[in-house]
Amino acid sequence: MSFTALHPELGRIDATLIDLGQGLAWESVYRTRPRIGLTCPECGHGVHAKLSPRRTRYFAHDPGRSPHCQLAVESADHHLLKLVLAEAIRRAGWSADLEVPALDGSWRADVMATSVVDGRRMAWEAQLSPITDDDIQMRTDRYADDDIDVCWVSSRDRVPWLCTVPAVAVTPADPPTAAERWMVHDGLVKFDYDRGGWVQVDDVPLASFVQWVLGRGLAFHSIGRRYRRIHLPGGNATMRRSASWTAQRYIDAEAKHEAMRRRQEAAKSAREEHARKAEEHRKQVERERQRQEQERRHAEAEERRRLLAIERERQRATWEAQRREQERQQQERARQQEEQARQEELARLERDRQEQAAAHQWWNEVSAAQLTELLNHVAALSMTEHASRALPGTDEGNREHAYGIAVYTGRRLYGVVRPCPQSLGRLHPSMRVFVRNAREKALITATGLIDADLVTHFDLPDHEQTTLL
Ligand SMILES: [Zn+2]
Repeated sequence: MSFTALHPELGRIDATLIDLGQGLAWESVYRTRPRIGLTCPECGHGVHAKLSPRRTRYFAHDPGRSPHCQLAVESADHHLLKLVLAEAIRRAGWSADLEVPALDGSWRADVMATSVVDGRRMAWEAQLSPITDDDIQMRTDRYADDDIDVCWVSSRDRVPWLCTVPAVAVTPADPPTAAERWMVHDGLVKFDYDRGGWVQVDDVPLASFVQWVLGRGLAFHSIGRRYRRIHLPGGNATMRRSASWTAQRYIDAEAKHEAMRRRQEAAKSAREEHARKAEEHRKQVERERQRQEQERRHAEAEERRRLLAIERERQRATWEAQRREQERQQQERARQQEEQARQEELARLERDRQEQAAAHQWWNEVSAAQLTELLNHVAALSMTEHASRALPGTDEGNREHAYGIAVYTGRRLYGVVRPCPQSLGRLHPSMRVFVRNAREKALITATGLIDADLVTHFDLPDHEQTTLL
């Protein structure tokens, strides 16, 4: 079925127009006898005027039509939607022509709206059958090549290409012929600034939508990347859309919101950058503080080491000085000891000399005869006491015997004859001593070095008898 046909004399006629677009009455083509040779504008096959049960006027192909004619196979729903679109366009004050082909055959508009003011054209396509995104884009591009806007309209519930090309989904009225009650249920949105997003509009009559589109009150808008989650009316459900029909003021609102969002984002970025810089500065300060602290500790440790080295050096110097002093003192002591030893040696030598001098004088007091006499008395005494004659040893004049004459009975030391009083300290304290007389004994005992009991004298005269004679 179709709404247009070719009249053999008048050309294209339109069943949706009162005068068929050519000043003709429907009755002049409907059930006329003889039949008028109407043909299909698509395939050229013969068609005849008909009325649907709802009294919609249309053209039906004669029997034996080509199976490839698009107009022939289009569904009743498709035709009804085209009819509704044509009526909406006409209500908007534009002329509507159905099934209008391009001169070069590159397109055929279901309904072509033409402005009575400036001749601007816009194609309205009723698309009910499935079509790929590529195909519908290609067909849209063909219109664009001829500077014709297009809007695709579907009465299906789910329309996959709504974002691909300018399009809307509509809800048929009940009954479907009530054109004014067809509603747009998808493909139209408004921007809710407070909500910061797009909201789907589903309460606009198709006729109003067509009027607004033709009046350029609506535009097919590519939705901002951040606003493509569309809120459905009532409830929190959303769907994704990258493009939709909307009014200019909503496009402006989206732009304003985007600008506001960007300002906020920029402000947030600036705050974050500020915070980041502040944090960086804080870390820098902290690093610097730690570096200085480390430097300070290092310097302190260095100073401690330096002071310790100084202290050690001072200690070492002290020890060295003490060592030198000790060495000096040792040397001094050794020197003093040496001096003392030397002095002592000198004193001993002096004492020996004095003792020798005294002994010399001591022995000068007696003559050889007097000595012999004395030795004889000692020998006589030893005979009495030990039955052994005491004889002088070979060690006469020995210092050990105080410069006296040691006498022996055999090998046994009997005593010392006439030791020198100045040298008595050299004698053993228990040594027997023999002297000539009491005077000599008195000289011996006066020293206190020899016990008087150990001193024996023989009452010999100090002077030789011969001298006295
Ligand atoms: Zn045909």
